Amino acid sequence: KLVSKKWKAKPTSVDLGDGIFIKEGEMAVITGPCSIETEEQIRAVVAHCVENDIKMMRGGVFKPRSSPYAFRGLGLEGLKLWHKIASEAGIKIVTEVMQTSQIEEMYPYVDVYQVGARNSQNFNLLDELGKVDKAVMIKRGISGTIEELLQSAEYVFSGGNENLILCERGIRTYERASRNTLDLNAIPILKAKSHLPVIVDPSHGIGIRAYVPQMALAGVMSGADGIIYESHEVPEKAYSDGQQTLDFAQSARLAGWIRESFEMR
Ligand code: PEP
Ligand code: MN
Repeated sequence: KLVSKKWKAKPTSVDLGDGIFIKEGEMAVITGPCSIETEEQIRAVVAHCVENDIKMMRGGVFKPRSSPYAFRGLGLEGLKLWHKIASEAGIKIVTEVMQTSQIEEMYPYVDVYQVGARNSQNFNLLDELGKVDKAVMIKRGISGTIEELLQSAEYVFSGGNENLILCERGIRTYERASRNTLDLNAIPILKAKSHLPVIVDPSHGIGIRAYVPQMALAGVMSGADGIIYESHEVPEKAYSDGQQTLDFAQSARLAGWIRESFEMR
């Protein structure tokens, strides 16, 4: 496989421009709300990122919701507004693309296209993202194996797009005490098998706000190249995933701990 270390020994470095990378040897910190909600919220999160030297902001404008009645995001208009505010502050945008028709319209406003867990094996979407010259982050499928995640990455890589990042976000197991089971085993295994950078999403991985920091730090120690977690100015009022979202004080502390842990690794 092209994404395997056997084919390419040198770690892949994903360059987002302006000196911002996701790559082995650095620790990417990515935070932001589950959903982009309002202009005030965007401004608050961007300010939080700037204050804490966080260069990448996450958020969904197209939301894959388990219920059709739940908030589905602000769409392209929300992304344009977000891009205007974030780019002025030098912050890069990580956001989910749900279908092929969105790739082109999102292109001017996105720095990393996120492929969500539910779309992890949407092979049409992966084929089309292989033709794009912007970074793609693929999340592990809800019940996806490590091998299936690598096969999904292979679709994009073999299509010609080598700006790829893998993301462990927890898998569905028999355990119901947590939202998902964060598979930390996947980190050293993916790092050994593939030259691609690997990041961990402890928010979806455990789904419980109070335990996100320790799982984030466990992710750092397991060898991840970055952590992506959800934060919001008032998590209790978030339109989605508030129960696993940190407030800004918690987020500021965690960002510091992530960097300190990485230094110690
Ligand atoms: C998200 O990042 O908010 C999200 C929907 O994640 P996942 O696809 O991992 O469920
Ligand atoms: Mn979410």
